[in-house]
Amino acid sequence: MSLTKNEFRAQFRCTHETCGKTYSLGEVVYSCENEGELLSVEHDLESLKKISAKEWKDTFDSRFRSQKFPYQSGVWGKKEWVLPGISEENIVTSGEGGSHLYDASRWAKDLGLGGLYIKQCGISHTGSFKDLGMTVLVSQVKQMIADGVPIRAVACASTGDTSAALASYAAKAGIPAIIFLPANKVSTAQLIQPVSNGAKVLALDTDFDGCMAIVKEVTKEKSIYLANSMNSLRIEGQKTISIEITQQLGWEVPDWIVIPGGNLGNVSALGMGFEMMKELGLIDRLPRIILAQAKNASPLYDSFKTGFTNFQSVTAQKTLASAIQIGDPVSVKKAIRVLKKFEGIVEVATEEELSDAAARGDLYGLYNDPHTGVALAALLKSIDRGEVKKGEKVVVISTANGLKFTEFKVNYHEGKIPGTNREMKNSILPCPANLSSVLEILGKELANHK
Ligand SMILES: *Cc1c(COP(=O)(O)O)cnc(C)c1O
Ligand SMILES: [Zn+2]
Repeated sequence: MSLTKNEFRAQFRCTHETCGKTYSLGEVVYSCENEGELLSVEHDLESLKKISAKEWKDTFDSRFRSQKFPYQSGVWGKKEWVLPGISEENIVTSGEGGSHLYDASRWAKDLGLGGLYIKQCGISHTGSFKDLGMTVLVSQVKQMIADGVPIRAVACASTGDTSAALASYAAKAGIPAIIFLPANKVSTAQLIQPVSNGAKVLALDTDFDGCMAIVKEVTKEKSIYLANSMNSLRIEGQKTISIEITQQLGWEVPDWIVIPGGNLGNVSALGMGFEMMKELGLIDRLPRIILAQAKNASPLYDSFKTGFTNFQSVTAQKTLASAIQIGDPVSVKKAIRVLKKFEGIVEVATEEELSDAAARGDLYGLYNDPHTGVALAALLKSIDRGEVKKGEKVVVISTANGLKFTEFKVNYHEGKIPGTNREMKNSILPCPANLSSVLEILGKELANHK
């Protein structure tokens, strides 16, 4: 069998243990008609298995960061595993994926780790990993419109990054986008993205969970297509993060992956990517996962403490990690399944811990957003508790670009985030414009450099 189109198949399947109802990917459906459970995309693994693991690796390697359409996208370089039925003319891509796996070797050495890598998912067209899922969703919508499905617009609730991605990809495809944001809860940099891309941006006087409830109602009218991650097409694109990480490590699986979570779609995707690689023989073991939450929005942490026997949604409190200020995560069941299978743990970070961890990483050359700060803080705490051991290899998923969070960075270095470590604050040095003053200041500063 060769890698030509339409030999592989995918469909939606209900994730309820005993239901298993299936739906075509061309249907406007997000959860099961029987009991309302989320769907997931199911691939025809038997036909994928007809290609050997070696051949898949060679294929993925030959496409990686190539210039050939659509493989310049890290997502579409894996298209048989993502959305095999799409016609290439309907693919809407901005070259997402293929992001750098940053080798923080100096930090790894200081921490006694066998390797510390930061997967830079925020270095992407709209500045977050949300592009990975949105290219798949918007492409499928374009395909459906071409097939005659009456879709007028795409819509989402967002804490910022989802709306930026949806607005951009929809604008690229020429499809109207509708965005529901919690008023006064997202950064200016995030808010201005969908505004610039011409989306209809509605600021609602509620939190993210309130926006989510509204968009679910609005999209009951099937001509407005729901783009939140309860739509499992997004998960298919995000799943390629796992494949890329493994590929970038020379097809080796790290010991740990640390990932920040809010609505918990991304950790579900991460797990599914690794499961698929194992099923198809590309890897022979799974990594362990640390799901990191902001302490102010940590319902999954509470559940973890009960061994996942109980889950209670909460009202999320304000956190600098605004994209994960979510108290009622849509993909909680999928996430718990993955965490159980991957011997996962859940860790939390306070506002001070996430800010300090982000700043610590910056001193090794990174430029961390607060969500990556949450993941880094969770890693540091897990090392301290002896959970992550000396010599182990760790990959941290950086979910957004620090450039979207200038206010956070400025406030940190101006000492405006209470309780943070004063030692890492860096300030600009005023200096008279003459050589002797410059040399005097530099002499002092370099002597003090740690
Ligand atoms: C969306 C988002 C997350 C959380 O991902 P979930 O799939 O909702 O768990 C984390 N960080 C950033 C920057 C995000 O935009
Ligand atoms: Zn069902």
